[in-house]
Amino acid sequence: MNPERTICPMCESADLIQKKVVEHYCYKGHDFSLEDIEYAECPKCHSEVVMPEQSTRNEVRICDEHRKIDGLLTRAEISELRERLKITQNQAAQIFGERVNAFSKYETGEATQNQAMDKLMKLALNVPQCFEELRQMANVQVSV
Ligand SMILES: [Zn+2]
Repeated sequence: MNPERTICPMCESADLIQKKVVEHYCYKGHDFSLEDIEYAECPKCHSEVVMPEQSTRNEVRICDEHRKIDGLLTRAEISELRERLKITQNQAAQIFGERVNAFSKYETGEATQNQAMDKLMKLALNVPQCFEELRQMANVQVSV
């Protein structure tokens, strides 16, 4: 299916037009705004819909803002942390004692790490001996 051409689900007689808007949110008493929040509008019946893929893209961006407010690492920060530790998502899961696909989920925004995991990751990054200890406990070889 071509995402550029999506028939309006309401009137089924026109192609939806992709639109972007600034949205304001409130999370735990913190206000934040996001630009380029995506939705689609029908030029004929003027229905506004958020397509599933747009919804996913919007949600992961909102998720990152929630993480910032909660003091947790964002998707990009976790990916960067892994790069600095020179470990794959799979190795990260073994070293930090998570399920095998956990880091893929943290980095796509499908799931959010809890406070304990977040602290452990930061500790591993900031204190090399901690990372080394965890790595040895998990018996994971890291190519330098
Ligand atoms: Zn329509």
